[in-house]
Amino acid sequence: MSSRKKTLLKVIVLGDSGVGKTSLMQQFVNGKFSHQYKATIGADFLTKELNIDDKNVTIQLWDTAGQERFQSLGVAFYRGADCCVLVYDVTNAKSFEHLGFWKDEFLIQANIKNPNSFPFVVLGNKIDIDESKRTVANKKAMQWCEEKGNIPYFETSAKEAVNIDQAFDIVARNAFQQELENEAEFNEDYSDAINIQLDGDQGGCAC
Ligand code: GDP
Ligand code: MG
Repeated sequence: MSSRKKTLLKVIVLGDSGVGKTSLMQQFVNGKFSHQYKATIGADFLTKELNIDDKNVTIQLWDTAGQERFQSLGVAFYRGADCCVLVYDVTNAKSFEHLGFWKDEFLIQANIKNPNSFPFVVLGNKIDIDESKRTVANKKAMQWCEEKGNIPYFETSAKEAVNIDQAFDIVARNAFQQELENEAEFNEDYSDAINIQLDGDQGGCAC
């Protein structure tokens, strides 16, 4: 079935403050890196048009705009997400240890029905920084991702634009797949609702 409806993919980017979430999005969408992005108020998103297997889609990347410190992101931020990107900084072990927290937080807040099949992507950012400052080994991160259900893992540098397009290509593809499944589920729910309505009608009215 062909559809003229435009596909919008909602992607949430989570992780500790300072790991480079805003920088990664800016590098992917605008091809720019700046040493400081001001924390703006309220949830922010950036969009980019992409082509996945000859289909035009719009990817909408939601940024936490600094509230991640206070954990008050609100329901609208998470609603309808198609993929969740978890970011840590390879020179900051705490930010890696917190990935599980961000993953669980997402699943709860977004009210994900099938947590085991929901697409996540993990990014270990700031790999341009000198190896001697690295505190999370590649192997350790890969193992974590494997244990959590084979989550795709990329090591990135927002500063030097390393692996950004590769990572977001997987994000977009997995989000697209999830969006198709969400749509199918919605159609199923909708036909169930119609059936209930019809059953009700057949039962007649008590008045
Ligand atoms: P956020 O709080 O997760 O959104 O992080 P930001 O994008 O604001 O980045 C926090 C700090 O880390 C800023 O000073 C960035 O310039 C810096 N930063 C972000 N990504 C990289 C990177 O890949 N390499 C290096 N060296 N610094 C980065
Ligand atoms: Mg930010």
